[in-house]
Amino acid sequence: MATKRILAYGRLNDDQLAQLSRDFAVQVFHDLDDGDDPAFRAALADAHGLIGASVTITPELLDAAPKLEAIATVSVGYDNYPVDELTRRGILLCNTPDVLTETTADTGFALIMAAARRVVELAEFVKRGDWQASIGPEHFGSDVHGKTLGLIGFGRIGAAVARRGALGFGMKVRYALASPKPQLEAELGAERRELDDLLAEADIICVTVPLTAETTHLIGAHEFAQMKPSAIFVNIARGQVVDESALIAALEKGQIRAAGLDVFEQEPLSPESPLPYMPNVVALPHIGSATHETRTAMAQRAVDNLILALNGERPISLVNEAAWRPA
Ligand code: NAP
Repeated sequence: MATKRILAYGRLNDDQLAQLSRDFAVQVFHDLDDGDDPAFRAALADAHGLIGASVTITPELLDAAPKLEAIATVSVGYDNYPVDELTRRGILLCNTPDVLTETTADTGFALIMAAARRVVELAEFVKRGDWQASIGPEHFGSDVHGKTLGLIGFGRIGAAVARRGALGFGMKVRYALASPKPQLEAELGAERRELDDLLAEADIICVTVPLTAETTHLIGAHEFAQMKPSAIFVNIARGQVVDESALIAALEKGQIRAAGLDVFEQEPLSPESPLPYMPNVVALPHIGSATHETRTAMAQRAVDNLILALNGERPISLVNEAAWRPA
């Protein structure tokens, strides 16, 4: 049987590339973030497997890849893949849940702390040499401990943020847009709410739902209007879950106090966006899972998934169960 071919456009270390190369012919594309790259498109014609995260896979790209059997995305989110189309074609899509949960929750908590305690704004204040006297109330932040934390989505990452809040900071936990979670309710004292009720009740709101057709612009002008003027809004999910112009308006009008954002509607962020220049915004360049340890673990999970899939075995994390045909 001819050796199967893999196109690798994610960051894999030498050991991971060697592991893939033991059984497969691997072609590496460095810094590829556009599926229109002519060499990549040409290579798709003979590809059995893809591994990476940066390229949006369209049905049109799939047409150029008639031999494709499996895609291993180096991410838990899979909003840049046409899942139904992959399933229809019998192509397996594998992702990397679990290994990034705690790291992404750490990022969420870093944003909560930074936005509530004005960490970035006040560090800039010191850097500019403006710290000339004891600071007064105009530079005070708001407490995090003891406050009410509202999770929008309460899956792996939502629960990990909630654990930090409840167990580390004595916060009350509320959640919305998730099926009932009796175990987490018992463990953390979490209570389920309708979305509008959660928005009105929470001091700190953290978005952790995946991006889907139903969650696109889930949080817009109506939702910001429900929040407290003192609310801290954090998004570690996907930028498109939030209507960014409504968020900017809410921050400008003082409808909410501050935002901590890891993700944006357009990434990298447009130079025209006012968000990074607003003093009450902490903006990060989509670093949710970006630690050495976690990115290595994610790449390893993707490698393991792809090897299993191309060998006809069930991958560890399979998104489209319906495409799985046991040998
Ligand atoms: P997960 O375990 O699947 O949790 C998703 C939660 O959202 C669940 O509580 C789910 O409800 C809820 N939900 C609400 N509406 C939904 C819908 N229309 N479709 C699916 N679920 C819906 O996922 P996770 O591992 O926590 O990851 C969540 C998202 O975080 C990822 O999809 C990704 O976009 C994002 N993320 C971002 C970064 C970053 O770098 N900033 C890193 C990792 C992940 P149920 O509880 O009822 O299932």
